[in-house]
Amino acid sequence: MGALLFALSLAAQADTRASAVDAGARAPDAAARARDAARAPDAAVRAARAPDAAAGTSDTAVQGSEAAGPVCEAAASAPASALPGFAIARVRTRAPVVALTFDACATMKQDNGFDRAIFDILKRERIPVTVFPTGRWVETHPAEARELAAQNWVEFGNHSYSHARMTRIPRRKAVEQIERTEAIIGNLGRKSVAFRPPFGAWNRAVVRLAARQQLPTVEWDVISGDAGGRIPASRTIAVVLAQARPGSILIFHINGRAPHTKEALPDIIRGLRDKGLGFVSVSTLLQEPDAQPASARPAPFGYRPLRHGKQRTAEGDVDAHPPS
Ligand SMILES: [Zn+2]
Repeated sequence: MGALLFALSLAAQADTRASAVDAGARAPDAAARARDAARAPDAAVRAARAPDAAAGTSDTAVQGSEAAGPVCEAAASAPASALPGFAIARVRTRAPVVALTFDACATMKQDNGFDRAIFDILKRERIPVTVFPTGRWVETHPAEARELAAQNWVEFGNHSYSHARMTRIPRRKAVEQIERTEAIIGNLGRKSVAFRPPFGAWNRAVVRLAARQQLPTVEWDVISGDAGGRIPASRTIAVVLAQARPGSILIFHINGRAPHTKEALPDIIRGLRDKGLGFVSVSTLLQEPDAQPASARPAPFGYRPLRHGKQRTAEGDVDAHPPS
């Protein structure tokens, strides 16, 4: 993981102050570390490393021409092979920390918004977070994007340009989705620490494209179910507090499409702290000394929409992500 950590540290250097604000005490003993290191990859990881049969034609199409272009040149500075070949759902770690993530999705047709109440809660509680905007969201919310970029407790991830289903578009378009947004985030004086594919739709080709931008592909293992507002705050609180564990990555939305999140967040923050869990950014989580990334379940078409009462715990098993 050395090269991965190096790449991540480069990516995260603008955000070092966002790390471990609320990490709490952690000192895994040597025996436990050795035990963790000896642990074989679980079935999900093995599945992700196996040929992605389900990816079918789109995988082939995306892989079709990996010969030239700036993407390959970028690989020279940090070998893409150093990053996991799968989308990360969480990390295995003994560190008692979780990462809260907030997607800011917008498409060409739908700008969506910015949930300032969520921003205010996070700022007040001094919670380091990772925000994954689409490039389109930044373009349609320039003032809010600059405000986010001005916060030392916020780090950025790349959520594509127009919320494209990355596995279903030509490779050239997929590269453009990532690069265009990276340039837009760069104009904010930031660099992404990870790529989060819209809808959770990923295959190995998508992961490789992101890796060539030195971006690990990061999904989630705890689904707040906040998008669309169909899940009441009480349910979100219960699910999140029941499922979060050390190394978890939690997904929420800050684009105005999750009306109950501001209501649920204070209880979630309090509840996680009561469980002895602190908060770190995604880049900090991935750099925990004993961190072992765990694969999300392969989902070349994306995950099904979350339905009330149908929530499951498996990494990436279902998705709260709406179409926009
Ligand atoms: Zn999204």
